[in-house]
Amino acid sequence: MVTGAADGLVPGRVTTLAPGLRRIVAPNPGPLTGPGTNTYLFGSRRVAIVDPGPASAAHAATILAAIGDAELVAIAVTHTHADHSSGVAALAAMRPAPVLGRIPRHSAFHDPSFHATHLVEDGDVLDTDAGAVVAVTTPGHASNHVCWHAPAQRLLCTGDHILGTTSPVILPPDGDMDEYLDALARLRALPLDWLLPGHGPVLAAPVEVIDALVRHRLEREARVVAALARAPGSIPADLVPLAYPDVAPSLYPWARRTLEAHLIRLERAGDARRDGERWSPA
Ligand SMILES: [Zn+2]
Repeated sequence: MVTGAADGLVPGRVTTLAPGLRRIVAPNPGPLTGPGTNTYLFGSRRVAIVDPGPASAAHAATILAAIGDAELVAIAVTHTHADHSSGVAALAAMRPAPVLGRIPRHSAFHDPSFHATHLVEDGDVLDTDAGAVVAVTTPGHASNHVCWHAPAQRLLCTGDHILGTTSPVILPPDGDMDEYLDALARLRALPLDWLLPGHGPVLAAPVEVIDALVRHRLEREARVVAALARAPGSIPADLVPLAYPDVAPSLYPWARRTLEAHLIRLERAGDARRDGERWSPA
């Protein structure tokens, strides 16, 4: 697996990460997308795409050139946030293939241009010449999130469930913190050597990465509990500076969403209560 200094995350670059596995970085770098969305290609003769990325003619051209005259067996997404899925329609128009994804519970934040021809269920398989790539449903960041597991290579495409450099935002009501943590526990039990996130570099030591992510979430939740105790009767936006002192104010709107996901989880556990928009310790 290509990692470290050789793992150049440059938009438009096609990197062969391992035999039968390529990554193309989309030209959409930003505060929430890191170096850009990662598009993964499994196989060289029977190819499956995981996450075509944003709608971009340049990115579609790079993907199609990389596929060449190979058979395209599937265009799959991890979830339908536009930075992962809005490139699907143009790509499928140029190279018809089964389009695989799931329908979200709530449409907010989701890409209205995405239309699946096959609705993914847990355990569904993409049959590439680099081996099977198996769907693992992982709601949490988004209700329709799927990670794609290649057992032969002991790797997992993690989409936005596990990211290279930041912790994912959880966007209720579609996103759900309890589901997110449950899905992480499921992923922790898979036999894995590598995590391939939707943004950022390849990650080694999956168990350590997952444990650190869970620790981070529970530490954040403890800060939310402390913020509630300090300022009972607050609306979520007023709790953000207290619970996210380490986050830039430009990211507060996203921090607020994840904070709300923590509040909902705390409410279920009997540790918080709400009165309209206002939250207090239970
Ligand atoms: Zn996302």
